[in-house]
Amino acid sequence: MSTTRILLIDADDTLWENNIYYERVIAEFIAALAAYGVTASRAQKTLWETEQRNIKITGYGSNAFCQSLHEVVHALGVVDLEPQIRQWENFIFHHPIELMPGVRETLPLLHSHNHLILLTKGREDEQLGKLRRSGLEPYFHAIEIVFEKTVQTYQSMITNHQLHPATTWMIGNSPRSDINPAKAAGLRTIFIPYHTTWQHEIEEIIPDGDQTIVLETFAELANHFTKETP
Ligand SMILES: [Mg+2]
Repeated sequence: MSTTRILLIDADDTLWENNIYYERVIAEFIAALAAYGVTASRAQKTLWETEQRNIKITGYGSNAFCQSLHEVVHALGVVDLEPQIRQWENFIFHHPIELMPGVRETLPLLHSHNHLILLTKGREDEQLGKLRRSGLEPYFHAIEIVFEKTVQTYQSMITNHQLHPATTWMIGNSPRSDINPAKAAGLRTIFIPYHTTWQHEIEEIIPDGDQTIVLETFAELANHFTKETP
């Protein structure tokens, strides 16, 4: 595989909208708590602290997120919201897929010139469900659904898929999950920032020479990856 260029591609908020559904639920959650006299700042602070504590154990996705909502309403003594939390979980799990601009046209082009691997965090059933609903599954040679994206995750990807770091790129919207740990593992990276990236994923990008390219849209990938490697 030495002459094949590998693109590891993030899914949520890189291929399709994801964070907007969580933000919608959080806004409704805070409004619902306000009706019980909980201020928005107290609700936000409690949710943030609960999520930070839980994420190491529960990982990512709608079920993990809604477990935190359940804990918050217990901590605040507003258990009347339990049925509503189950509805919100259902809403996030089954949302229709809205592809990011340019993905529908660009992914087939990338597929014809590169070896594509989807690399996403979250629960397998939820992430596979989104991939099927997206119609993008045929463009990927492999799908990797991981608990967390750390330097070790990328090192395992290099070993398991026999990747050559010089011809392997990680593409995503999260500095914390897609860019910094991939760079630390020796991969090249493409950062496509997104306006609603979750607070948890925000981190300064480690400065370097030419190891990270920043693009404004997914479509711009076609300028970089539709020529054969020498
Ligand atoms: Mg993402």
